[in-house]
Amino acid sequence: MPLVVRPIAPSEHAAAAELTATVYRGEGYSSADYEPQLRAVGARAETATVLVAELDGQVVGAVTVATRGGEWAEQSAPGEAVVRMLVVAAEARGSGAGEALVRACLDTARADGCSLVRLSSQESMTTAHRLYERLGFVRTPSFDWSPVPGLHLRTYALPLAPWCGQCGEALTPEGHAACRRSAELDPPRYCARCRRRMVVQVLPTGWTARCSEHGTVSG
Ligand SMILES: [Zn+2]
Ligand SMILES: [Zn+2]
Repeated sequence: MPLVVRPIAPSEHAAAAELTATVYRGEGYSSADYEPQLRAVGARAETATVLVAELDGQVVGAVTVATRGGEWAEQSAPGEAVVRMLVVAAEARGSGAGEALVRACLDTARADGCSLVRLSSQESMTTAHRLYERLGFVRTPSFDWSPVPGLHLRTYALPLAPWCGQCGEALTPEGHAACRRSAELDPPRYCARCRRRMVVQVLPTGWTARCSEHGTVSG
């Protein structure tokens, strides 16, 4: 049976939690403090999207992609997606499951209107780094961070759209710091896909911004 990547079913939360914790622990990437977060598949599925890779009827991989902010979207501004907790079972290494999962995250981010995808990764996860670089992610050293003392995370980003929604200039993973701050409060003024001026409406509850070609985003 071919490899299939799809959203997780509620009945698979426990299996995906076990797989995620087992892979992280087996590779030495987990700690007692982190394991509850790794196992919180149900919580992730509520505010983000959890995808699984299925091979021969077995769940052999899982990943989380957060496209709407929230607790799983660390380091992100509005309009950015974050990929978290990519795991592939040892017996499925080399099957393409990891790549298929990350590609599905990019599709999800695009469908949710995100213009950039970010991720953080431990220094020793070199197989994953090669995959990210093959898919076009670039290093973003100015975003590297330490969630706990002694754990250094390297970061990557991949623009999905060419233009910055705030200033209308070419979007880069590391630049536009002021634009990222204003995106926390203000609607985009330019369409990230075509650079057209957006028609912006500010409402008491939020805002909408409409590109005549690419439709409406809201926040
Ligand atoms: Zn900008
Ligand atoms: Zn547009």
